[in-house]
Amino acid sequence: MNDLAHDDLVLVTGSGGFIGGHLVADLLTSGFRTVRAVDNKPLAEWHQVLPEAENLQLDLRGAEACLKAAHGARYIFNLAADMGGMGFIETHKADCMLSVLINTNMLLAARDCRVERYFFSSSACVYAADKQTDPKVTPLREEHAYPAMPEDGYGWEKLFSERMCRHFLEDHGLITRVARYHNVYGPKGTYFGGREKAPAAICRKVAEAKLSGKDEIEIWGDGEQTRSFMYIDDCLYGTRAIMASEVSDPLNLGSDELVTVNQLVEIVQAIAGVRLRRRYKLDAPQGVRGRNSDNTLIRQKLGWAPSIALSDGLEKTYRWIHDEVSRAQGVLRHATPV
Ligand code: NAD
Repeated sequence: MNDLAHDDLVLVTGSGGFIGGHLVADLLTSGFRTVRAVDNKPLAEWHQVLPEAENLQLDLRGAEACLKAAHGARYIFNLAADMGGMGFIETHKADCMLSVLINTNMLLAARDCRVERYFFSSSACVYAADKQTDPKVTPLREEHAYPAMPEDGYGWEKLFSERMCRHFLEDHGLITRVARYHNVYGPKGTYFGGREKAPAAICRKVAEAKLSGKDEIEIWGDGEQTRSFMYIDDCLYGTRAIMASEVSDPLNLGSDELVTVNQLVEIVQAIAGVRLRRRYKLDAPQGVRGRNSDNTLIRQKLGWAPSIALSDGLEKTYRWIHDEVSRAQGVLRHATPV
């Protein structure tokens, strides 16, 4: 990453979460020796705890905690947010908006600690819903975020925090970089409990059905809503490339392989080697009708765009979730009195 030396301190916030955990692992693997990992969850609940990193439990909604986290850091990847899939963000709008405290206090701390570069993980939820009403959606270009009418709650907070990044660059000279992630998936993420996203939820449902011998799964909506899904390895490469780039405007970081949720289910079933009946829950949260990423700008600016095939990424994701579900069921069986 630019002239960053392997001894320079890099802070990753939200490191107990899915992408943050992978990013810490990736930085360590590529030779960074001083990585600080911060999350508000107890370490026992982190998806990955890397002992080579400095692991801290801090609630980054507070200014003091942000200063402590940022102290001595040259680069900050700010991934901390109170978030989840549609089931969470449609029912926790206030909680999602309160992530603005994290983003405000982290930017102030970065400025005051003279941090050099600051990465903010924004989202495709900043795009207006009226551009995403058709499953055969026109892929979203960066300029489509305005005039603004983002996803209520979560999307508004992301768009506001994107603009704050821009103004910290203009007014305070803090180099800020912003990626608009489109649906990221992979192993070592949330796959149950209400915050999981569609790929993880479908992998879990298929794995549970397979392991228990059930022949039916529930699908949210009619399954004809479309999305693109980016595998975690593409996300990590893109995040680091955007951080190192000279691009100060937000860039889409997502796959442009568009599928319906029904096609996603087909792929997971083929990997699992099962065929299941689908029960469609039409009143479940579904988000927009169609969404895809236009990758023209990222290709132009970085000469690269995410390319890992959905079937390849799902293969690894399904295997991991299947093993987790299987292990959990084994623990439960052992805990049942005879
Ligand atoms: P995640 O929920 O797995 O990780 C976020 C982490 O932030 C969690 O571990 C959580 O405990 C932590 N956190 C929440 N509040 C905190 C606080 N007050 N102080 C410190 N830590 C706090 O989510 P993820 O999928 O890894 O997403 C990472 C970032 O990328 C988030 O900003 C998210 O909004 C953004 N994003 C993710 C996706 C996706 O598909 N995963 C899509 C668009 C944007």
